[in-house]
Amino acid sequence: MKSEQTSIQERLAAVRDEVPAHVTLVAVSKTKPQGAIEAAASIGQIEFGENRVQEMAEKATALKGLNLEWHHIGHLQTNKVKQVVPHAHLIHAVDSERLLAEINKRSASIDKVSDVLLQIHIATEATKFGWSFSEFESFLQSQSWTDLSHVRIRGLMGMATFTDNHQQVRREFQSLKTAFDSATALNKDWDTLSMGMSGDWKIAVDEGSTMVRIGSSIFGKR
Ligand SMILES: *Cc1c(COP(=O)(O)O)cnc(C)c1O
Repeated sequence: MKSEQTSIQERLAAVRDEVPAHVTLVAVSKTKPQGAIEAAASIGQIEFGENRVQEMAEKATALKGLNLEWHHIGHLQTNKVKQVVPHAHLIHAVDSERLLAEINKRSASIDKVSDVLLQIHIATEATKFGWSFSEFESFLQSQSWTDLSHVRIRGLMGMATFTDNHQQVRREFQSLKTAFDSATALNKDWDTLSMGMSGDWKIAVDEGSTMVRIGSSIFGKR
């Protein structure tokens, strides 16, 4: 019988074969044990995604020797920012100016400049977080983040509606890409568009994603 570790490595290798070279693969290891992460790391995976603050901090600390890059991909509460900032390579789901200001403050206090993405609400589900397009548009015009010396916005992130309707998913990713393009016209250093998960990443890549967040296709179902 094949070990769980071997299956993870095989599935990861298969995903990597398919993801184009210009797209960064974040392996979403949330809820999975350290052994699963070590298995993926042993064949060269560096970027891992977690959505719980405590879990990410524990894994990052325990696996420090592997020099992995930790992506915080889920909704982040202001009162948890302090625990995330020391470990995060990239914070994906910044959904308010208040959260951005808090990340700036906590980063300044440890002399770090944190890379972040702004989450845009592209899905029809009300439960998904993020800026609306109109909120984002006014934020973009305001350029208010330029005062924040310890955060660096790198781009946008979004989650499509969980549906079998591929046309709808495609349209949602297209709308995010359009917002990204208008943002990068003003901000030349924004280079990251994080969109696509196990079920929809091929559509996302088709529509211009530069970073996919893939969990269950690599680590098995949660
Ligand atoms: C869990 C999660 C993923 C990965 O989902 P899979 O369907 O397992 O690939 C991607 N992005 C976010 C924000 C997540 O919470």
